[in-house]
Amino acid sequence: MKSENCVRLESPKVALSVLKETGAWSLLDKRTGVVWSSNPQATRLGEVTLRTKSGETQNLPLIPDFVCQEENSVRLMFHPDCGDTGLTLMAKLTLMPDGETIDVSYTTTGSSEIEEVKLLDNALSIMDSDSGYLLIPVRLGLLIPSDSGVEFSHRFGTFDYEGCHIEMLGLVKQSSALLVTWHDPYITAEVKSKVDDKKQSFCPFRQELSEWVSKRTRQSLSISLHLRKTAHAFQLRPLGVGDLNTIAQAYRDVAKEKGWLVTWDEKLKEHPQAENLFGAINFKLWTALARRIDENLQEQSVTVCWTFDEVAQIAEHLKNDLKLDRVLFILGGWIHRGYDCEHPDILPAAPECGGDEGLIDCSRRVRALGYPFSLHDNYQDMYRDAPSWDEDYIMKNPDGSPRKGGLWLGGRAFLTCSKKAVELAKRPQNLPKVKELFEPDIYFIDTTYAAGLCECFDPNHPLTKWDDMFWKSAISDYAREVFGLFGSECGREWAMPHSDWFEGLTGVSGRYYHSLDPEKFGGTVVPLFEMIYRDSIVMHGKYGYRFDEAAEYVLHHVSIGRTLNYHSIGHHLYWHNDTQNEVPFPAEGMDKACFTRAHNGWAEGLCLTDRFIKNTYEILSPLNELTSNVRLTQVDFLTPDRKVRRTRFGEAATVTVNGSSSNFTISSKIGGEVILPPFGFVVESPTFVVFHAYKWGGVKYDSPVLFTLRSLDGKPISESEQVRVFHGFGDARLAWRDGVVEVGKEIIIE
Ligand SMILES: [Zn+2]
Repeated sequence: MKSENCVRLESPKVALSVLKETGAWSLLDKRTGVVWSSNPQATRLGEVTLRTKSGETQNLPLIPDFVCQEENSVRLMFHPDCGDTGLTLMAKLTLMPDGETIDVSYTTTGSSEIEEVKLLDNALSIMDSDSGYLLIPVRLGLLIPSDSGVEFSHRFGTFDYEGCHIEMLGLVKQSSALLVTWHDPYITAEVKSKVDDKKQSFCPFRQELSEWVSKRTRQSLSISLHLRKTAHAFQLRPLGVGDLNTIAQAYRDVAKEKGWLVTWDEKLKEHPQAENLFGAINFKLWTALARRIDENLQEQSVTVCWTFDEVAQIAEHLKNDLKLDRVLFILGGWIHRGYDCEHPDILPAAPECGGDEGLIDCSRRVRALGYPFSLHDNYQDMYRDAPSWDEDYIMKNPDGSPRKGGLWLGGRAFLTCSKKAVELAKRPQNLPKVKELFEPDIYFIDTTYAAGLCECFDPNHPLTKWDDMFWKSAISDYAREVFGLFGSECGREWAMPHSDWFEGLTGVSGRYYHSLDPEKFGGTVVPLFEMIYRDSIVMHGKYGYRFDEAAEYVLHHVSIGRTLNYHSIGHHLYWHNDTQNEVPFPAEGMDKACFTRAHNGWAEGLCLTDRFIKNTYEILSPLNELTSNVRLTQVDFLTPDRKVRRTRFGEAATVTVNGSSSNFTISSKIGGEVILPPFGFVVESPTFVVFHAYKWGGVKYDSPVLFTLRSLDGKPISESEQVRVFHGFGDARLAWRDGVVEVGKEIIIE
């Protein structure tokens, strides 16, 4: 770029050049030589959408009238003209004191109504030849490679359902990393992948043209940020040589600055009982009483799935028969008319299941087992047949009409305004009475973090998205004050300081997402959220799934060291009706039922549900207990398709999982050469080892085996004088020090 044509900001790390004529820019990361730039196809900085006096919207390009440098900033002035409005828009690109972050912001003067502004407009392209990728913080995180050959365009609204759960995007090209951050719920990130075979495309920077055309442009990824209402800024931070791990680490610092990274070390000071959640599985009976109401408030069916006495018997079965020590035991459908009928009028507890007396006894029995007991409630949905129904509680649309929610078991829900929801929760007959009667250890208020932030247009209680975040935080803080611990659905980074538990972030219905399909992006799920926030929150998946098809879901949870959610439990005393047979081995292909197997092992002869719970508990509960308060420090992909991956939890544990369809051999510190079948894995920590493998410690097996080894005296396994061995399934032989031991169900080697 010729100097007389552009304005340039420079530090030892980066150089930003802005073309005076068009506002197009390029950002050189001097540490790698990689250039990040505005849209190479467009001679402009971005675009503004204005609302004209007649109410129409009009998109106008942002081409500057004037560009100048002021100290560490480039200022650009625009007069976008749509005839009947007057507007001056000033954009500012500032090189921040860290010498690498570019802050991009805008202000306006004039009377025009701005719908949205794009200052990042199909920018920061990554080509297939760059061997790069994008990171989207949707649930755990989605890595979208630049060479997938898949074309798509998708918008991820900040904090929306399956939008950006964190205010950031990550980019990597030619091993050079860039972090994009912002701090406003009114930003939507748009991600595009374009695939074509054109060898030449327009380049605004002449001297880079030759390099440009020499690349064969087959696929390009680019991003745009749509800024609305209060959103006026974002930051671009080149990170030099880096990858997923670098980006996660860089954002962790930002999260700390925002006050959203509140680690267990801090949380445990005020709520030490949260430690009871470490290593606990998520066992949810959904729902004790299921009453189905239709759109017209007519009752369609009433089913008692579990009485409160049966609920307690199930907890006792988990403790006494399956020998599970760490269980977060959650009950839904305990409320007066059954989930989620007549919310928010929840008491007395469902008479069909045993009423208040029955639930008091149930809570006492579950807690006596040492299990944290949680009740599932909801303050976002309200139903017209609720005794305290009043339209004043309901959120309003811009035209003043009440905002409709989904059609659920309770019929058509209407959404309470989150400011009014706090009032409802605080009524004597709501949370205070629940505490007095049942004393749950942790409270769950559904949808609080799952639904996107809303606006309310009721003149008595108007809300912006910021207000909605405030009041949703307030209801969380209140529930936490009453019960000590609090959790809600899915999870967002803004909720981190107000909660202890997210249900739904690690997966949905046995898959990674609810409606998002990673394959439509050619993408791979990566634990970005874990890498930033792991040591601040308990996380599980949500909704039910088939245990005999869940191997990939299990493997995913092994790799991130999180316990499973068990939400598909048969009605009543389920083990009396569940099958005891093993699912036949598949004639070919991967064994999706592998974790329901128990031939020759601990859970042989138990029902399928119990076999799955026991096997996965023995793998995941100790792993999570050891790593709950530890960061997920490193993710490495061992194959180009990213299906074999290794995760490292500081010095606490290393996990290698094989998500591919063929065997994979690794060399392990303790197990030597380990052959992993599809869905095979190895967990290695000083005091806990697990393997699902064909070969371990020099012993070869005809079919995959599952063993866990745990030191009971705190010494490393290799020196321990008391090691408990659990045998899940398969051959009973286990290599042990210089010999081989036979393990039936479980033994303690002393
Ligand atoms: Zn409102």
